[in-house]
Amino acid sequence: MSLPAPFLQTLEGVVGFNKAAFEAVHTSGETVTAIRVNPNKNPDQILFEHTSPVPWCTHGHYLEARPSFTLDPNFHAGAYYVQDASSMFLWQALKQVVGDSHGLKVLDLCAAPGGKSTLLSSYFENGLVVSNEVIKQRAAVLVENTSKWGAHNMVVTNNDPSHFQSLPQFFDVMVVDAPCSGSGLFRKDPTAMEGWSLDLVALCAQRQQRILADALPALALGGTLIYATCSYDPNEDEHIADWLVNEMGLTPQAIDINNYPGIVETAAPISKAPGYRFYPDQIKGEGFFIAAFKKEKEVGVALTSFKSKEAVLEKLTKKMQEQVAEVLPTNDTIATFLQSGMIKAIPSVFESSILQLASQLYIKKAGVSIGELKGKDFIPAHEYALSYLPLDIFNRVDLDKEQALSYLRRAEFNCSGEKGWNLMRYNGLGLGWAKILPNRTNNYYPQEWRILKA
Ligand code: SAM
Repeated sequence: MSLPAPFLQTLEGVVGFNKAAFEAVHTSGETVTAIRVNPNKNPDQILFEHTSPVPWCTHGHYLEARPSFTLDPNFHAGAYYVQDASSMFLWQALKQVVGDSHGLKVLDLCAAPGGKSTLLSSYFENGLVVSNEVIKQRAAVLVENTSKWGAHNMVVTNNDPSHFQSLPQFFDVMVVDAPCSGSGLFRKDPTAMEGWSLDLVALCAQRQQRILADALPALALGGTLIYATCSYDPNEDEHIADWLVNEMGLTPQAIDINNYPGIVETAAPISKAPGYRFYPDQIKGEGFFIAAFKKEKEVGVALTSFKSKEAVLEKLTKKMQEQVAEVLPTNDTIATFLQSGMIKAIPSVFESSILQLASQLYIKKAGVSIGELKGKDFIPAHEYALSYLPLDIFNRVDLDKEQALSYLRRAEFNCSGEKGWNLMRYNGLGLGWAKILPNRTNNYYPQEWRILKA
């Protein structure tokens, strides 16, 4: 793989750039595979042999080789997320800059396919994570991945960053993992080089400023912004950091990297805001940039208001609540709502926050969908099977690997068990639902998620 000469020229003189080593690692054919384990889904089970820890992220592990994740039922059960190890440094940034505060409201503004969002939901397990994606098709993937993660402290929205201006100072933490020119992924995906140009870098830098300026009014005073890209270009990294300090009035935050040799600390040219660069020839991961800021003052911006046209969340009637109590043994930590006929479970402490979000944004997923009431019948939702809400009241069938793969392929499927709805499990984790009838089993794995690979 030979890197484009104009691209290499943009990196001349950039702190930490070592041309020979950088080119060598791009031609080495070396690949790095890492996963982040879901702390709420049997975290102690051995998922893979021969792993080593990602030093900066509690649940991160490097794998020795890349297995077929598609053919691993644990992957579909949300036992882990496959993520670039450099990106997992977000965990460390949060640990050092935000600490272990409880009950925070967190926005992941550019969230699909969901790597940072699932990390955020684990980090802020007592908080609320709003995971937003502006592109509709990508929002669908985000719903799939966050559903598999199983957390009921997540809301997925499909909005333009400017729509968040209707929620002034709503969030305590905002993560902007901005769309960028993507040079950090050249080693992993050489086809990304085809679209790279200096014009693209300029366009991305402009778009990054627009996204940040649009969304920053939604960050609370005292709140934290984490800005990240997978580009090496200073125009998308340190220059944006300068702009955030000089134009948006943010205060830069340092992250101690003494325990993580190979990560390169840089300073933005004017403000000297610290930023952290990840070069694949110096750490085990792909190219990445991250910087943290606090918002200590409001910079005047013209706010636009936006009102969602979609149905807001409705309260359940008393009768429905009684029916739901039979299938969702709740306590006062869980509240339920109806959205377009679907019952949703959310953390009760965030009830009013979620209502506020629903009145302003396009909600694609709020908490966990539990199911629908059809007369006296309850039809369970797929998300419920993947959640870590208590599912003990349901009959269940424990599948072996082959059975689990047949189920996940939505193949003709037979299993023995109690008649009616059964939770299909693998390694103790829910995969989905099947309905056992007297002479056959109906497979309810979602058509659009089924495994196509033989
Ligand atoms: N945070 C994600 C993760 O860790 O899985 C990766 C995010 S990716 C780097 C950037 C995302 O920004 C993409 O999903 C892209 O669709 C979205 N995006 C593109 N244009 C955007 C815009 N104008 N405003 C907000 N987001 C945008």
